[in-house]
Amino acid sequence: MKRILITGGAGFLGSHLCDRFIKEGFHVIAMDNLITGDLRNIEHLFKLPNFEFYHHDVSKFIHVPGDLHYILHFASPASPIDYLKIPIQTLKVGSLGIHNCLGLARVKNARVLIASTSEVYGDPLVHPQTEDYWGHVNPVGPRGVYDEAKRFQEAMTMAYHTFHGLETRIVRIFNTYGPRMRLNDGRVLPAFIGQALRGEDLTIFGDGSQTRSFCFVDDLVEGIYRLLLSDHAQPVNIGNPSEITIKEFAEEIIKLTGTDQKVVYKDLPKDDPKQRQPDITKARQILNWEPKFSREEGLKITYKYFKNLPKERLFDEVNHREF
Ligand code: UDP
Repeated sequence: MKRILITGGAGFLGSHLCDRFIKEGFHVIAMDNLITGDLRNIEHLFKLPNFEFYHHDVSKFIHVPGDLHYILHFASPASPIDYLKIPIQTLKVGSLGIHNCLGLARVKNARVLIASTSEVYGDPLVHPQTEDYWGHVNPVGPRGVYDEAKRFQEAMTMAYHTFHGLETRIVRIFNTYGPRMRLNDGRVLPAFIGQALRGEDLTIFGDGSQTRSFCFVDDLVEGIYRLLLSDHAQPVNIGNPSEITIKEFAEEIIKLTGTDQKVVYKDLPKDDPKQRQPDITKARQILNWEPKFSREEGLKITYKYFKNLPKERLFDEVNHREF
């Protein structure tokens, strides 16, 4: 049985990856310090003999007994609110965390796949973003802690690949949504759906003309699965190229939730990218992958999940413990 370590395994993406690799017959070891992860995302897996959970901070030395064939490094705060609240941890998990994963991979002779991000392109001057664009990032702005951690993580991973001959994969993830996002993580989709469910106005930052391209989580997981099993060490964009302005997105959410909420306009956060759309030519060619879920289908599934949560979770507070 193949054994895989998934860091950030209790998070939004990590938990969906745990599900997928369990389904594929792997022995899955999820690791998470639970700062932004949530055990409720994986509690259905605890009864399985081929699932283990390590409550551990990947920025500290990692020990995993026995064989290990794959490591997915998905631990990281990933929303602007989270990484503004815990900037040092964000930098540490992208630097010390990946260093520990790569060191473990060398000892175990495992293949490593890292979660990178469209944020490596910053506020892009090239549109749509292809993998060979180097980006437009402000290292000392509020997003710098995340963007530069992820860029460093790519550099470190590539160095282990070229210097040590380690098998590595890099996925650049564009905005992804789906069940298990935290309602209060500040990202636009849970923000809008949470506001609609609580009967609050939807907060549009800026004039809402900035664009994003939203990918449903099942599509992303499929792309990651294919990339892991491919032989491609260079970065690959995975995302849904269907681009929309945030104002239009708010209108779609109001329609979806059937509420009569209004929108209110707030200041645009500093360095908020004006546009974002993945060029997925490479993923199409190399992985024979493209997204299957339309936004309409994906949003319906996601809304159903949030609507069925216990009422009190609409007001969840996150506990950002220092360590
Ligand atoms: N946004 C918004 N209202 C909110 C939360 C976010 O208008 O309540 C905007 C935000 O300024 C950004 C876009 O939605 O332009 C996507 O934000 P998110 O935090 O989801 O992701 P990212 O900016 O990292 O793509």
